[in-house]
Amino acid sequence: MSQSDVILPGATLGVMGGGQLGRMFVHAAQAMGYNTAVLDADPSSPAGLVSHHHIRTGYLDEAGLKELAAQCAAVTTEFENVPAQALAQLAQIRPVAPAGSAVAICQDRAKEKAHFVACGVPCAPHAIIETPEQLAAVSEDLLPGILKTARLGYDGKGQIRVKTRAELNAAWDELKCVGCVLEKMLPLAYEVSVIVARGRNGQVVHFPLQQNLHRDGILAVTTVPAPSVSAEVSQRAYEAAHQIAASMGYVGVLCVEFFVLQDGSIVANEMAPRPHNSGHHTIDACDVSQFEMQVRAMTGLPLVEPQLHSPCHMLNLLGDLWFPAGATTQQEPDWAGVLALPGVHLHLYGKTEARKGRKMGHLTVTAPTAAQAREVALKVAAILGIEPF
Ligand code: ADP
Ligand code: MG
Repeated sequence: MSQSDVILPGATLGVMGGGQLGRMFVHAAQAMGYNTAVLDADPSSPAGLVSHHHIRTGYLDEAGLKELAAQCAAVTTEFENVPAQALAQLAQIRPVAPAGSAVAICQDRAKEKAHFVACGVPCAPHAIIETPEQLAAVSEDLLPGILKTARLGYDGKGQIRVKTRAELNAAWDELKCVGCVLEKMLPLAYEVSVIVARGRNGQVVHFPLQQNLHRDGILAVTTVPAPSVSAEVSQRAYEAAHQIAASMGYVGVLCVEFFVLQDGSIVANEMAPRPHNSGHHTIDACDVSQFEMQVRAMTGLPLVEPQLHSPCHMLNLLGDLWFPAGATTQQEPDWAGVLALPGVHLHLYGKTEARKGRKMGHLTVTAPTAAQAREVALKVAAILGIEPF
């Protein structure tokens, strides 16, 4: 496919993975006039429920991949743990964005950190632990630290905080001695992320930087504009994110998470080769959403620099909210109560079973000023039983 070949509305776009990110991609693609196909084994996956086509197979199923390639003019992914091999196989027949090679870097914390370093972007001091010898050789300087599995971690899962060498040894055992990265615990001032989109022609655009509050390792609240971040720090984060995307030859939407340390320096934490939870506010607060940007990048449509039109707060709606104090059975939160407030945009992902820590939906509050957005977001939090922020 040449760079000038644009896949226009009316075509079918495919997505590997049927979670909420796939669902919001499907919504954006359909709004623009595309048909959609989702590959996910779960018959009630959030994206499968709303897509024109749903191929219910595993990611490596030959017949499933063939069907997806036959139905779609281009394919993207909503899940970084789709085997890179499946993307490579699809890419032999159809344009795939992002490429399997880029997804392979993002799937592995060790490769990801090597990529940051190669781009000249600082990351946390760390050591790779794949063998007992590497474990024994770890420098004391990395303690206290966080031991993270190199692959398959998310929402704080697959990581253990360790203060001493004895705790480190026990933690590696607990993680079943799989390949890990030990990172030095850094003095965080706050956490931010930058979402960029890169087109087939190499153009890169970015969304305004987000400030993120995590609770128990899970994103709880995203605020834009980022209240604590100077223009100078934002600029450094934008430049780093552009460089990280460009030097992978990346095509698609990429999110880079950064720590801002107490001395004002920035450190790249991790990246996701897809739209990101910290970019959900873009649906309601920006003139182009991260999901529309994913459609534009994979189809070769123009990318434009997205603008934030309203200050906002995004609150994640975790399954915990379905079990208010004392409740033993699942109860629907007071949606009517929160929707009575101005500027509240509710997004639920169609998951019927609420579980603690499970992302059931999110809600974005937009307002004419940041102070008003915060005021309404705090009222929403009080109604739903979310801890104030
Ligand atoms: P996940 O894949 O679960 O998002 P992260 O590597 O982003 O994993 O870690 C989850 C959270 O843990 C981060 O958002 C941050 O709050 C905290 N954290 C992770 N690494 C460090 C570190 N090196 N120093 C201090 N805090 C950290
Ligand atoms: Mg993270």
